[in-house]
Amino acid sequence: AVVLVGDDSASQVYVNNKKKACEAVGIRSVSHVLSGGTTEEALLELIAKLNADKDIHGILVQMPVPKQIDERKVILAIDPKKDVDCFHPVNVGNLHTGGEGFLPCTPAGIIELIKRSGHSIEGKQCVVIGRSNIVGKPVAMLLMQENGTVTICHSRTRNLAEICRGADIIVSAVGKVNTVTADMVKEGAILIDVGMNRNEAGKLCGDVDFENVKEIAGAITPVPGGVGPMTVATLIEKLQHSRKNPEWIGIKKNCKKILRWIPLTFRESQGYSFYIGKIRKNGRKGSVCMKKGALKGIVCLVVIVVIWMAVSFRSKPLSEEGEISLENFVV
Ligand code: NAP
Repeated sequence: AVVLVGDDSASQVYVNNKKKACEAVGIRSVSHVLSGGTTEEALLELIAKLNADKDIHGILVQMPVPKQIDERKVILAIDPKKDVDCFHPVNVGNLHTGGEGFLPCTPAGIIELIKRSGHSIEGKQCVVIGRSNIVGKPVAMLLMQENGTVTICHSRTRNLAEICRGADIIVSAVGKVNTVTADMVKEGAILIDVGMNRNEAGKLCGDVDFENVKEIAGAITPVPGGVGPMTVATLIEKLQHSRKNPEWIGIKKNCKKILRWIPLTFRESQGYSFYIGKIRKNGRKGSVCMKKGALKGIVCLVVIVVIWMAVSFRSKPLSEEGEISLENFVV
C-alpha cells in the first residue's frame, strides 16, 4: 500500500512510478491519496488499519509529510515487517548491525548498481555527499559494509571539492544543481547522482554537472533515467526476493507465482537504465555514455540475424530461376 499525503508533484511522480512497476510485475498495489490538511491522528489510524490488513504486505508512506504531522510518529507506527522503505528504527538497527530485514531501496540499489556494473567497492575511497536518514547515512553504511573507506560530507563540510577529488566513488544526495562539478572529480571516478532537481530551464537534473563530469568519470548515472528508476526496480526486486522468505513479508501464493516469471534481468526488459552508463575505454576523452542493456540488445540481434542467415542458406536452395521457392524448403 502506498500512502501519499498532500499534492507534492515530485512525490506524486515517485508514487505513480512505484504503482506502475508493481502492476507491471503483477503485484497488487493500493494507493491512499490524502489531502494536504490530513491530521496526524487520521494518518496514524490509516497506518494501523494497513498494519492489521493481512492482504497488505508492504506500506510506503511517501515522505515528506505535511508539517502538522510528526514524521517520526508515522515511521514508528508502521509495522517493521511491512516497512519496505526501511525507515523504522528496528530495520535501521538491522541495517547497521548487518542483521536480516529490509534494506532501504535507493541505498541498496546503489550498491547493486555499482557491483553489477563490474566495479568493486572494496578498498575504494568513497565520498557520500548528504547525511539524510533516507539516503546519505544508509548508503554510507552499506558502502562501509562492502569494505569501502567512507567519508560523509554535508552542508558544514569544509573543502568539499578537495575531499571529492580524492574519491574513487562519489554518491551525491543533496538536492542542489551543480553540487559536483568537473573540477571536483578525479579521472576515472564513479559518480552516482541521487539528486532530483530542476535547472533554470525547468528541466529535471541531478546534483552532478553531467555534461562536463562525464568527460572525466569512469562511470556516471544520468538524471533522469539512473537512480530514480533503479530505486523502483529495487523495490520490486525486494518483493521478488522475499518470495524465498515468505514469512518475512508474507507474499500471497498467487503473487509468488507471477513473481517467479520475472527474469533476474527484468530491469532491462522493463527498459530501465539500471546500469551505469560506461564511458568507452578507448583512451579518448569525450566518448559517449552507453547503456549495457542497449549493447546486449544489439549483440543479440546480430547473433539472431547471423543464425537465421546460416539456417536459411543451408535449408533454402534456390530454384532454377534463381529465386527462393517455398517448395524447396528443407525442414
Ligand atoms: P535531504 O534530507 O534534504 O538531505 C540533503 C543533504 O545534503 C543534507 O545532509 C545536507 O546537509 C546536505 N547538503 C545540503 N547542501 C549541501 C552542500 N552545499 N554541500 C554539501 N552537502 C549539502 O535530502 P534527501 O532526502 O537525502 O535527498 C537528496 C536528494 O536526493 C533530493 O534531491 C531528493 O529528491 C533525491 N532523492 C532521490 C531518490 C531517487 O529515488 N531518485 C530517492 C531519495 C532522494 P545538512 O545535513 O548539513 O543539512
